This record gives sequence, structure tokens and C-alpha cells, in this order.
Amino acid sequence: MTTSEKKLRTCNNGHTYYKSSDCPTCPTCEQERKPEHGFLSVLSAPARRALENNGVTTLQQLSNYSEKEILQFHGMGPGSLPKLRKALEEDGLSFRP
Ligand SMILES: [Zn+2]
Repeated sequence: MTTSEKKLRTCNNGHTYYKSSDCPTCPTCEQERKPEHGFLSVLSAPARRALENNGVTTLQQLSNYSEKEILQFHGMGPGSLPKLRKALEEDGLSFRP
């Protein structure tokens, strides 16, 4: 690293972040560019890992499971189900009956 000081920057969407380079990429915007990962971001870390460990990273993959199966994932709690249900609904999907 040749640049020493990190500068506080604000992107066009109003996110503030620190960057030491001249790279204009905002980490928040970068995150929002991945809609297929959007539903994972609303979950608690253990619940997110539970899904990822079972290969569920998209809503389409999530819709292949029933609520019962999802709850059997290690780390998944019942409190995460309403969030998942809502995320599925917003994409016109639902849990497997
Ligand atoms: Zn941004």
C-alpha cells in the first residue's frame, strides 16, 4: 500500500464509506447489485450460514424446500421463517408445500 490515509467518501446514493484508494466503488452499492443474495442479508448470521451450508443461496433454491425442511437446517431458527416467507413472496415464490 502506497496511500496511507483512508478518506471518508460519499457515493452518488449517499452511502458513506472509507477508502484509501481512488477506486470509486461503494461497498454498499456493490452489495445491492447482487439481488439474488439480497434475502440472505436480512437473516441473522447463523441462519444465513445454515442456508449457505445447505447450498441455498437464491430464492429459487429456497423455494425447493418446505418450511419444515428449512427449520431442520442447523442454525436456522423459527424467527427467520417470516423473513424468508416475505422474501419469497416478493419474488412471486413460496416454500414447497
Ligand atoms: Zn453507495
